[in-house]
Amino acid sequence: MSNIVAIVGRPNVGKSTLFNRLVQRRDAIVDSVSGVTRDRHYGKSDWNGKEFSVIDTGGYAVGSDDIFEEEIRKQVDLAIDEADVIVFVVDVEEGITPMDTEVANLLRKVKKPIFMVVNKVDNSMREDDALEFYNLGLGEFFTISSINGSGTGDLLDAVVKDLEDDIVVQDELPRFAVVGRPNAGKSSFINALIGVERNIVTNIAGTTRDSIDTKYNRFGFEFNLVDTAGIRKKSKVKEDLEFYSVMRAVRSIEHCDVAIIVVDATRGFEGQDENIFWLAEKNKKGVVILVNKWDLVEKETNTMRDFEAQVRNEIAPFTDVPIIFTSVLTKQRIFKAIETAVEVYENRKKRIPTSKLNETMLDIVKTYTPPAYKGKFVKIKYCMQLPTPTPQFVFFCNLPQYIREPYKRFVENKLRELYDFKGVPIVIYFRQK
Ligand code: GDP
Ligand code: GDP
Repeated sequence: MSNIVAIVGRPNVGKSTLFNRLVQRRDAIVDSVSGVTRDRHYGKSDWNGKEFSVIDTGGYAVGSDDIFEEEIRKQVDLAIDEADVIVFVVDVEEGITPMDTEVANLLRKVKKPIFMVVNKVDNSMREDDALEFYNLGLGEFFTISSINGSGTGDLLDAVVKDLEDDIVVQDELPRFAVVGRPNAGKSSFINALIGVERNIVTNIAGTTRDSIDTKYNRFGFEFNLVDTAGIRKKSKVKEDLEFYSVMRAVRSIEHCDVAIIVVDATRGFEGQDENIFWLAEKNKKGVVILVNKWDLVEKETNTMRDFEAQVRNEIAPFTDVPIIFTSVLTKQRIFKAIETAVEVYENRKKRIPTSKLNETMLDIVKTYTPPAYKGKFVKIKYCMQLPTPTPQFVFFCNLPQYIREPYKRFVENKLRELYDFKGVPIVIYFRQK
């Protein structure tokens, strides 16, 4: 399901302040676990039970002042292409500026839901000042204060009304997204999959709002590639923008079951690759890493082993991920790549019966009990897998608040040893019975 909310507007109107307010709560939970700050301009949020992604497009602005306007225009264009809902922020302190007018002109032609937000309305006196924004010709607007939060609830009420409710399941085929940095070999990989048999490709329009899936029957497997049209007709200019790559990756990852992350072996596993990996992990998608262009790498005895170790080091703590060394050029391990993606898909759907889980895991947690905390002992009595789309387990115990991260990690590793969840993020909860 895609529910992408893009925040656009010129610099200094308060986009990142609003972004932080929208994603704060959830990100705090997720990132305190991994302990890493990553992409600060992309986050998940929810309101009234609807989940959505928020992107602060301004966060990707680069360069000096003279190219700023051009940059903003591009970002608004891209947000228009890729987002489901656009939040256009203006600033009551500054009033209407020429750049606001320019952005408004772009947005007026757009069919997608657009919410104009007059920010920095910190007190009721400023409500009157906001009236001038009617002149932008976008109709009604919301007045908010991102700093103190007033008005943001009404804004969110309106925004989520325009978001999709449920995952639209078209068919039961695995949905793969091929993602990665520009030039890693994504289109070549997809073309290699298509091969010469053009007739294996069927476009299914509108699985969700405006995405396109392409159905494949290849190597004895049936699957959908997510958003391949976008990849094939990509323009190099657009792809070169970091923002564009991120937006593209966000969109296709949110639609997929398994993200096939293509890495350019000649460049190593870099910050951007890590970001894409983290997007998949954060969205609880399956992951397969392809280290592509392996034909170009000069090899000694341990080259592959060392490369793999380096990647695992970068993606820790979620390291139980298949890493495959491919050459799309020579078609080396292309089949293996798809076969592995199918395995990861199966792993993600895996359900362990409660009786079996208790037979195995209860023994383990009773033998290796959580360390005592403040002189108290945690007793785990029962566990089960939740009926969620991606593997989540709950362990019932007397004092869940005393379970620390290392013990969670230990339990996760045991689950992975016993049941093979390779490539799949697992969530574990400890709860009071
Ligand atoms: P961005 O460049 O659009 O991302 O803007 P920022 O979020 O960085 O905010 C620019 C400045 O405006 C910062 O100094 C913020 O503290 C301030 N600001 C943001 N929201 C509000 C608000 O609601 N009220 C007031 N008074 N200042 C705000
Ligand atoms: P994309 O931007 O990720 O879609 O990358 P492309 O598929 O357009 O590939 C970028 C360049 O890398 C092209 O010139 C490809 O021919 C080349 N390329 C892709 N895969 C391989 C590979 O496995 N080996 C070699 N030597 N070149 C490759």
